[in-house]
Order: sequence, then structure tokens, then C-alpha cells
Amino acid sequence: MSDHSHKNCKAMLGSLSEYIDGELPPELCQEIEQHLAGCDNCRVVLNTTKRTIDLVQMPVEQEEVPDDVRARLFKRLNLDDYLPQT
Ligand SMILES: [Zn+2]
Repeated sequence: MSDHSHKNCKAMLGSLSEYIDGELPPELCQEIEQHLAGCDNCRVVLNTTKRTIDLVQMPVEQEEVPDDVRARLFKRLNLDDYLPQT
């Protein structure tokens, strides 16, 4: 049914932060959603990432999370760890 292969995972995870932020064009979102539908691995990553971001973005008495904090967050999540080992 799908020609899913894990080589798409890396590209997909590379766009994950933009995807979550809604910064991607609709065509790309659709591609990602299609990939997610067939890939448990990436769904887990997406859920984990979203949850972490939600935590960081709790409505505390704080300004928006600055970009560098967000960048560090993604780095700390170390998305590469989620990729299937070859
Ligand atoms: Zn995947």
C-alpha cells in the first residue's frame, strides 16, 4: 500500500520543528502526515517533541520561548537517536 521506507525519516525529522510550528507549506505538511501515517517511529518522535515543546511553552509568567532555547531543545532531543539504526 505504501512504499514507506526509513530513508524518508531523516528528511521528515529535519522538517519536524517547522512542521510543528506550522511553518511548512500545505503540500509538505501533507507529505509529512502521509509519512507519519505509515511510520510508527516518526509518530513517536513527533509526539515526544510536541510534548516537550508543550512543557516548555507552559503559560508561565514568561515571554515566548526564545529561538535559541528552542534550538537547544531540539538539539537536546537528539532526533538522530530515534532514527532506525542501519
Ligand atoms: Zn519515519
